[in-house]
Amino acid sequence: MTVRVRFAPSPTGMFHVGGARSALQNWIFAKQQGGVFVLRVEDTDAARNKPEWTEGILSALEWIGIARDTYEGPYFQSAYAGEHRAAAGRLYDAGRAYYCDCTREAVQARTGSQYQGYDGFCRDRGLPPGEGRALRFRTPDEGTTVVVDLIRGEPTFENKLIEDFVIARGDGSPVFLLANVVDDLTMGITHVIRAEEHLPNTPKQQLLWDALGVKPPVWAHVPVVVNEKRQKLSKRRDKVALEAYRDEGYLAAAMRNYLMLLGWAPSGDREIVPWSVIEEEFRLTEVNPSPAFFDEKKLRAFNGEYIRALPVDEFVAACRPWLTGTGTIAPPPWQPEEFDADAFAAVAPLAQTRIAVLSEIVPNVDFLFLADPLIDEAAWAKAMKEGAAELLDAAVAGYTALESWDAESLKSTLEAVGAERGLKLGKAQAPVRVAVTGRTVGLPLFESLEVLGRERTLARLRAARLRLV
Ligand code: GLU
Repeated sequence: MTVRVRFAPSPTGMFHVGGARSALQNWIFAKQQGGVFVLRVEDTDAARNKPEWTEGILSALEWIGIARDTYEGPYFQSAYAGEHRAAAGRLYDAGRAYYCDCTREAVQARTGSQYQGYDGFCRDRGLPPGEGRALRFRTPDEGTTVVVDLIRGEPTFENKLIEDFVIARGDGSPVFLLANVVDDLTMGITHVIRAEEHLPNTPKQQLLWDALGVKPPVWAHVPVVVNEKRQKLSKRRDKVALEAYRDEGYLAAAMRNYLMLLGWAPSGDREIVPWSVIEEEFRLTEVNPSPAFFDEKKLRAFNGEYIRALPVDEFVAACRPWLTGTGTIAPPPWQPEEFDADAFAAVAPLAQTRIAVLSEIVPNVDFLFLADPLIDEAAWAKAMKEGAAELLDAAVAGYTALESWDAESLKSTLEAVGAERGLKLGKAQAPVRVAVTGRTVGLPLFESLEVLGRERTLARLRAARLRLV
């Protein structure tokens, strides 16, 4: 039997990193099993769905490495409304479901102050369908439902503790729980790999599979993703959107490597491994069921390593969207015509070792392209203390006299200027750096001055000097 898995996101917001993790696990599992990965967009919540979220999911999947020609679909849940209704009808006809007109208040009035679930009041009333009547599934009174889960063993649920749950609302529309099962069944899904949050739904869904007369799939509930406080990652509190990481300049390769480590690790003492190793070594059954900590700091460090491992020309190309501003990436502070590709190429190797995410390229190189540097006033106050004006005068004099405008000469000149004033190079550099780049930290100074050129360097040193009068 061909393995068929599916990834079934709801297009109700930005694409969650936890979702990306589940998608990758499904995709690798399918590949390993010679199976099929199906993409199904669960778009039945018309009030919350937006087409742009669907487009966002497709492009985010593509970015993370799940190309459109490697999966079946996308299918849209809304297109299967007829199948959902038909299944609800079959369950009713077979006596596996019944109509109910109880309000929540009525149930509560009968069962006491706290709502403990439905009390089965309409089970044997034989109500015919009617406006405002919900369809409830008649759960078995006895026995257990054993879920076969590749990650969690065999979680077992007492049937008598499962309430008669609603499968179609009062207006006749089937609920998510049923639609999700019917789609899996229609699409021949053999393995449902999804987030742990859905585990409480699983016994109910398995009962539906049984009642519809089809063998349930094998389940695998992958761990919930949590923040440093062990709280489930939430879009209100945490940075969860894959697109946000992409736009900040995380490399897809780093991101997918990191996501696969949520609850799993490759062999040996390694974490950063080529994707081919992950595809080969990943085992769904080895995924740790405990909550997985999404450690943004670690991801950043990972990304830095991936950036440093790029050949320089690839690094230059990877920086391009932040240097020009494309799509959802904000434009840089300079005008397009101010950008100088050669100057960038000259400093790129210096920047490559210093940044952890690609967007950080902008503040590192903006001094090269802006007519005037963006002066950080706090940096200015720190660097332009007693003696700065006089030091800048001496630097201007030394640099004006330089025959060869190269990093080595620029450095030895400033070293000499500093030494005459009893200053180490670091101290002598500070006012020069702030005058030229606007910041106290940045790329190696003398290489930067070399690329910036004599004229612009001197002009900036003079301008800073004038501000100190
Ligand atoms: N649409 C559901 C969600 O986004 C997925 C349910 C499932 O994978 O079974 O949470």
